[in-house]
Amino acid sequence: MERHDVAVIGAGVVGAALARTLSLTRTSVVLIEAQSEAGFGTSKANSGIIHAGHHGDPATLKGALEWPGNQAWDALAAELGFAFRRIGELTVAFDDAERAHLDLLEARGRAKGVPGLERWDAERVRREEPALSHDVVEALYAPTAGVVNPYEACYTLVENAVRNGVEAHFDAPVTAVEALEDGGGFALQAGGRRIEARYVVNAAGLYGDALNALAGASGPRLRARKGEEYLLDKRLQGYVERLVFPAPSATSKGTLIIPTYDGTLMVGPTAHETDDKEDLTTTAEGAAEVFEKVRRLAPGLQPSDTIAQFAGLRAVAEDDDFHVGATDVPRWLQALGIQSPGLTAAPVLAERLVAALAEQGLALEPDPDAEPTLPPPVRFATAEPVVQEALVARDPAYATMVCRCEWVTEGEIRDAIARGARTLDGIKFRTRAGMGRCQGGFCRLRCMELLERDAGIALPDVRKHNPGSWVAIARVDGTPGREVTS
Ligand SMILES: Cc1cc2nc3c(=O)[nH]c(=O)nc-3n(C[C@H](O)[C@H](O)[C@H](O)COP(=O)(O)OP(=O)(O)OC[C@H]3O[C@@H](n4cnc5c(N)ncnc54)[C@H](O)[C@@H]3O)c2cc1C
Repeated sequence: MERHDVAVIGAGVVGAALARTLSLTRTSVVLIEAQSEAGFGTSKANSGIIHAGHHGDPATLKGALEWPGNQAWDALAAELGFAFRRIGELTVAFDDAERAHLDLLEARGRAKGVPGLERWDAERVRREEPALSHDVVEALYAPTAGVVNPYEACYTLVENAVRNGVEAHFDAPVTAVEALEDGGGFALQAGGRRIEARYVVNAAGLYGDALNALAGASGPRLRARKGEEYLLDKRLQGYVERLVFPAPSATSKGTLIIPTYDGTLMVGPTAHETDDKEDLTTTAEGAAEVFEKVRRLAPGLQPSDTIAQFAGLRAVAEDDDFHVGATDVPRWLQALGIQSPGLTAAPVLAERLVAALAEQGLALEPDPDAEPTLPPPVRFATAEPVVQEALVARDPAYATMVCRCEWVTEGEIRDAIARGARTLDGIKFRTRAGMGRCQGGFCRLRCMELLERDAGIALPDVRKHNPGSWVAIARVDGTPGREVTS
């Protein structure tokens, strides 16, 4: 059996970034993910903000990595072609006590070297963002904040890694870890396979503490801190141009107004600890809390504008900080407690992990044949008319509209399947088909048919995401369907 140099457990943004960074070297890497596609853990369910750099306390690791992480995203997005834009942010104050928070954030930002910070008075805030409350007395503007489609980042990192030779296994939870008798690494049981590797990096998000226990490594105990987010009707596109933050609290950057990359406005998240690491429910209390808080920022926002909602779970260590690098078990490394700003910091977390692997003896040599870029995907809805015409002339699949809300063509869905989508969520997150006002009411069946045609997944076996999330039982034409046990 081949013994890989490195096994990365978890294809969230951290594991994906690490696998991709290693894929640019001559290292042999296996990426192992419990769920059906990359990013289906916390990495798909967040605010999608590349934080400006001035929020975190530099005395903590998570605060120290925010600004270096922020700076890595332009190059990464240019190489991999995922959606990323620096739209800037405002942290607003309603009174002198909150002004003091702005002073603190500004001082932090200046100490870290975050460029472009400005204080805006109430008049400037009203001129630039007229939808914000007229009770705002001052704001701190940070142009370095950006928005990204986080799931796209995960998919493209993994796609690039795989193109450069990384072996990826999905639906493969690691359930047992054995130290190899020759001292040369570990054997992992994952999804019915035995996988050997000389080094293991545990980037298993919320379950990283359980994985450490399997390896006999001590590390942080992890709790889940739930965040509910609410997506609003696209007619509110442009309601605010920038990310809007309140003055922060002790446990969170607060409940925000987020103009997402694709133009949909999102509000959230909440921040409440939960003992249930699977609790992705959204609640009436969560919605009430979010809207009460964001209506203080922008009184015109209405709960009735909600078209979709979701919750994500931050993996929070006891000391509230990131734990990255070596553990007390040689060759078993970790990236745990990666709460916010873990998305922002992921590229530099990957670099730190690579350095930690090198410190433990892994020889890393750049691979001159590795290709750091990916071809950009077609985005019909936002292409210039002349480009749309050329696409249609080249390939009629781009003339067939599948998702009418978001204008996604059959050609784009076919391309997404060719690039790795195996579930309806995989298609949705890659193309936006099903993300619009009707939430897939029109296009779901067509997407299922395309998964059947292009990925060879029989229609009754098509899933929304992980096993168990089937949509259909059988075809009405009498073709045998999936066996239903409950
Ligand atoms: C509501 C919310 C909003 C946020 N907003 C932001 C933001 O705007 N900006 C920002 O920078 N950060 C934000 N964050 C934080 C950010 O989302 C996380 O820091 C980041 O996604 C963590 O990535 P990860 O790879 O460590 O974890 P995950 O994405 O959870 O990946 C871990 C992976 O490991 C897999 N796994 C678990 N157990 C096993 C096993 N036994 N075998 C194999 N695989 C396993 C899981 O299935 C999962 O896919 C937010 C978080 C939340 C919850």
